[in-house]
Amino acid sequence: MYPDQFEFHRADSVSEAVELLADNPDAELIAGGHSLLPTMKSGLASPDALVDISDLDGLSGVERNGEVTHLGAMTTYATVADDDDLWEDATVVAEAASQVGDRQVRNRGTVGGNIAHADPASDLPAAMLAANATVHVHGPDGERSVEIDDFFQGMYATAAGEEGVVTGIDVPEEGENTASAYVKKPAPASGYALVGVAARLTFDGDEVTDARIAANGVMDHGTRLPAAEDAIEGESVDADAVAVAGDAAGDSLDEYMVMEDQQASQEFRLQLLSAYTERALETVGERAGHM
Ligand SMILES: Cc1cc2nc3c(=O)[nH]c(=O)nc-3n(C[C@H](O)[C@H](O)[C@H](O)COP(=O)(O)OP(=O)(O)OC[C@H]3O[C@@H](n4cnc5c(N)ncnc54)[C@H](O)[C@@H]3O)c2cc1C
Repeated sequence: MYPDQFEFHRADSVSEAVELLADNPDAELIAGGHSLLPTMKSGLASPDALVDISDLDGLSGVERNGEVTHLGAMTTYATVADDDDLWEDATVVAEAASQVGDRQVRNRGTVGGNIAHADPASDLPAAMLAANATVHVHGPDGERSVEIDDFFQGMYATAAGEEGVVTGIDVPEEGENTASAYVKKPAPASGYALVGVAARLTFDGDEVTDARIAANGVMDHGTRLPAAEDAIEGESVDADAVAVAGDAAGDSLDEYMVMEDQQASQEFRLQLLSAYTERALETVGERAGHM
């Protein structure tokens, strides 16, 4: 199908993009286009105007600032997944990026577009939650930083709002006592996450002193799993503790809000959530040398 007609603006700066969005309530930013164009072609979205931010200076690339890695919003998944230092510093983010779609999607899709779009089945939301990232947003009221725990607000809804441009994401370095992983059950047809689980554990010796565990594909947006975090904190990552945390994974979720569609029932998603929480924790335990 062909999309409806639309105006096309190529922004020369982030400020201009913000102004164009404010002046055109039905305008949409276009970054990699890998979510927006399919929805326009299928008639699910018909923006009056597109604001292209793909050529803006400073929005692309991976930059290290001390113990934080800055990912420009227009950085592609391929760039992230091919960055050896990121696999060391924030494994969960590199691993999630490496599992997005296929090589063609990873060459065009962007990290900013992924989290701004906030598709419940996307891979990066849980990874960014586990990594404890900070999102930089430029909106009509200027620039602000949003903690990742406050960023995802619902299906396709974020703290960036309709008029905010995500300009970048800061990912803290894991440090030598921390390890992380992202594992997912891909939907067979699309590759999106039926369920994906991201985990980052910090250890003191064998004991887990801090856990950040989050899931995609289960609720209407990427979400932390506090019951699983509580279950593994204070424990060593052995088979028993991993099984208890896996069992607990769904306990903190509102069961009536668990996603259900033609791909998976609520019951099946919760079973996957338990199994993939266990897998994520096992993988982190192995990487940290504790299993
Ligand atoms: C065949 C296929 C398979 C895919 N498989 C997966 C998968 O396995 N896992 C996965 O996570 N994703 C998958 N995707 C989606 C892909 O990752 C998209 O790239 C991503 O969801 C959106 O990023 P984008 O840069 O393409 O954004 P666009 O499509 O350009 O934009 C998407 C939305 O986000 C808004 N937006 C974009 N950038 C910004 C910004 N900087 N600030 C504010 N708003 C912004 C746009 O206005 C638009 O509303 C797949 C896509 C395709 C086509």
